[in-house]
Amino acid sequence: MTPRTTRVVRLVRRPAGEPVPADFAVEERTLPQLGEGQLLVRNLYMSVDPSMRGRLESTEKHYTHNFTPGAPLDGRALGVVEESRSAAVPPGTFVRHQLGWREHAVLDAADTEGAGRIDPELAPLPTWLGLLGQTGFTAYVGLTRIADVRPGDTVLVSAAAGAVGSAAGQFARLLGAERVLGTAGGPDKCALLVKEFGYDATADYRAGPVREALAGLAPDGVDVYFDNVGGEQLAAALHALRTGGRVALCGMMSQFGGERRTVDINHLIQAVLKRLTLCGFIVRDHEDLRPEFEHRVAGWLRAGEVTARETVADGLENAPGALLSLLAGGNVGKMLVRLSSP
Ligand code: NDP
Repeated sequence: MTPRTTRVVRLVRRPAGEPVPADFAVEERTLPQLGEGQLLVRNLYMSVDPSMRGRLESTEKHYTHNFTPGAPLDGRALGVVEESRSAAVPPGTFVRHQLGWREHAVLDAADTEGAGRIDPELAPLPTWLGLLGQTGFTAYVGLTRIADVRPGDTVLVSAAAGAVGSAAGQFARLLGAERVLGTAGGPDKCALLVKEFGYDATADYRAGPVREALAGLAPDGVDVYFDNVGGEQLAAALHALRTGGRVALCGMMSQFGGERRTVDINHLIQAVLKRLTLCGFIVRDHEDLRPEFEHRVAGWLRAGEVTARETVADGLENAPGALLSLLAGGNVGKMLVRLSSP
């Protein structure tokens, strides 16, 4: 029977400093009637993303809208169509869309991504939000189009055990990199980088100065730096890069919260001296590359050449905790919340 209400996660107030559980509440909301061309989707998995941290603020400038106190959060999700008023998307279709942080979503068929294209036979559902989803796509765009990884390169990835990072390390190798180096927080994650994701060597950025660690890992320098964290690690990488090195600026995990914005911009002289290319990117500007990405990564998955790893929390009530855990480095691979079973 079609549900009349659903549960959502609402932003209670903007965080004062670091977010805390009381900034969020789970509550019941009435579902609207389906209009022409609309779908009722039961969400199965939702993505938990670092960009949400900036969207909780009122001032932080973002590439999408900021959250509004009192209103439900949103974000990437994957679900199954339970009721449809669109001939193009029949009930039973698995769809990806932007209305996560709720158990059911009413959305326009036109706003689904990959309608009818998610094939659970090809890869397990969580992979469609991780390695085969926006996460893997971000890693692929950053390596191929932005940093132009070439055979023989030495590639350095930060937040290397995270969602984008664990994909980037594996893809870099498959794109021909000769050495793949990663940084992560803590000895356990560093060990996992080698064992599970095939990194050649790692540095624990919490254990000491990253610049010294990189000098030890790559005495001859690195060709490409895939930057997920900014701050001290970006500064250290500028010193580690070889002449003509390329940097894909993907994100800045270390820069949430004003107290951490302390890195000396004079490190940028390295970019001048070594003729470096630093290029920021937003993955959604590169949709034209998606068919190529899906084709290649699906092939790598089929051949067992890449590992899709997720950290999964269960139930909508645990979604705010999953976000706080992600921000504190509690995840390996893609952070997801499972909302219901297919
Ligand atoms: P991750 O799975 O990598 O999770 C974030 C990780 O960041 C944590 O696990 C933690 O790992 C690390 N971290 C947290 N705080 C710090 C800190 N102060 N210094 C260094 N590392 C820290 O998230 P995603 O893979 O989803 O995202 C990775 C990056 O990619 C983010 O910066 C995100 O904003 C960016 N991104 C950019 C996109 C674009 O279009 N440009 C699209 C998607 C994501 P650890 O335990 O190792 O510290």
